[in-house]
Amino acid sequence: MLIDRFERRINYLRISLTDRCNLRCIYCMPPEGERKLRHKDILRYEELLRIARIAIKLGINKIRLTGGEPLVRKGTQEFIPMLTALSGLDDVSLTTNGVCLKDNLETLKAAGIRRINVSLDSLKRLNFKLITRFDYFNEVWEGIEKARDMGFYPIKINIVIMKGINDNEVLDFARLAIEQPYHIRFIECMPIGLQTNSIAFVSNSEIEKTIVNRFGPLIPLSHGQNDGPAARFRFDGGKGEIGFINAISDPFCKDCNRLRLTANGVILPCLLSNTEVDIKDPLRRGCLDEEIMKVFLKAVNLKPQCHPLNCEHDQRVYRKMCSIGG
Ligand code: SAM
Repeated sequence: MLIDRFERRINYLRISLTDRCNLRCIYCMPPEGERKLRHKDILRYEELLRIARIAIKLGINKIRLTGGEPLVRKGTQEFIPMLTALSGLDDVSLTTNGVCLKDNLETLKAAGIRRINVSLDSLKRLNFKLITRFDYFNEVWEGIEKARDMGFYPIKINIVIMKGINDNEVLDFARLAIEQPYHIRFIECMPIGLQTNSIAFVSNSEIEKTIVNRFGPLIPLSHGQNDGPAARFRFDGGKGEIGFINAISDPFCKDCNRLRLTANGVILPCLLSNTEVDIKDPLRRGCLDEEIMKVFLKAVNLKPQCHPLNCEHDQRVYRKMCSIGG
């Protein structure tokens, strides 16, 4: 079992399949993209499967695939079923920008994936283009609707609200949670990477106030085991949910149960700190499983009690979100 110094049981591993992305969101990447990892520096699928097998032995029972954009990596259609076939995993899910979702849903469903998170910061085609620098809103929306029609559930739509950019869409997103079975989740913008310098932060309490003023009270929901750090609510009679991930204004570290594996093979004990533990080197030296287990134990031991950042301190995470995966 992976238990950290603060008695938190770690059972969740987020695996970034690639640093590449087919969008260039203004708060995440510069227009020209980030410098790409070399192919040889990216963990191969067989290495990821070995890491996952060992992690399962240590008590990891939940894996989320992320990126960059996970669905742009070649071979995901073969890899995902191999991953979900590993025994000992209770849940495998995916975080995607949705651009390639439509064409991958059959594979995902056949592999047993049901829970999908789609990052979507605007419901308007032009604003989507402004934020992501690509005109793919229709593709994303078609993917979301097809996933709903195919029975994927829950479909979480993750939004980062930025002042002057998409804060005028808060009510449109809230309305979506009334009319559709989607779980709308507002994630506070975190000071990760350099692009967030110029983004005007909007706290989730401001967003909640805007929503309640217009649509009335939000009814709190109990916290399920797959909810992660989100505080969940629904509207009376609404089909979907609203969730708030208060990454900055009210950090949720006390319940943190996760580790992150980057595409180039380091484990991050905490999203918002700069500590990392290399796993690729021992793996490629041909080490025994026990050594990989020790890497996991070391990463777990390095988990801080609470993340060191907040809006008042000008501290930054030097890794980019596109290499961590959120
Ligand atoms: N491409 C996939 C996607 O779009 O979901 C996975 C990777 S993306 C980096 C994961 C999530 O991180 C997205 O929801 C994105 O909005 C979020 N993200 C990126 N930079 C962020 C920041 N500085 N603060 C908060 N969320 C951020």
